[in-house]
This record gives sequence, C-alpha cells and structure tokens, in this order.
Amino acid sequence: MEYEPTIYCSQCGRKAPWWISWSAANPGRRYYACVEAQHGFIEWHNGPTSPFLRVLLGDLRDRIWKLEDYGAAICKDGDAGVGASCVEL
Ligand SMILES: [Zn+2]
Repeated sequence: MEYEPTIYCSQCGRKAPWWISWSAANPGRRYYACVEAQHGFIEWHNGPTSPFLRVLLGDLRDRIWKLEDYGAAICKDGDAGVGASCVEL
C-alpha cells in the first residue's frame, strides 16, 4: 500500500480517519471525516464510483445486510439448532 498523507479536520485540527462509504450514491468510495460529526469535515480520497460499480456494490451491500438480518433473526429465535453457533458476520 502506498503512503497516504495525514488529513486533519479543518475545524478542530485532529487527524481525520479514513472511512469507506456504503451510501447508495457512493458505495466503496473512500473518504476522510472527523470523528466529531458535528464538525461536518469530509474530504473524498478518490473520485466518484462508476455507475456500474455503484449498482454492483449497492446490490452486494443489500444482500449482505439481508443475510445479517436473517442470521440475527435465526439466532434471536433460538432456532439455530443444537451445535449451531451464532456469530457476527
Ligand atoms: Zn473535527
């Protein structure tokens, strides 16, 4: 992985962590944002997601969320059966 310069919040001067967006408009797009959301600091690391990847990543994200809900419902109901384990995905 190549070196990335440290990005600082323009409001408080703290180091802004690197995040990955999973919004419908920007799935997979990386950005920096202050941990204090009220500062409103955000800086995109890379350009917009292509229309093809936007649809593909959105569909995959939705399928993962559906599977997580399904797994949580099974574990919550106690229907996992003997020997089955409920784990975080
Ligand atoms: Zn800040």
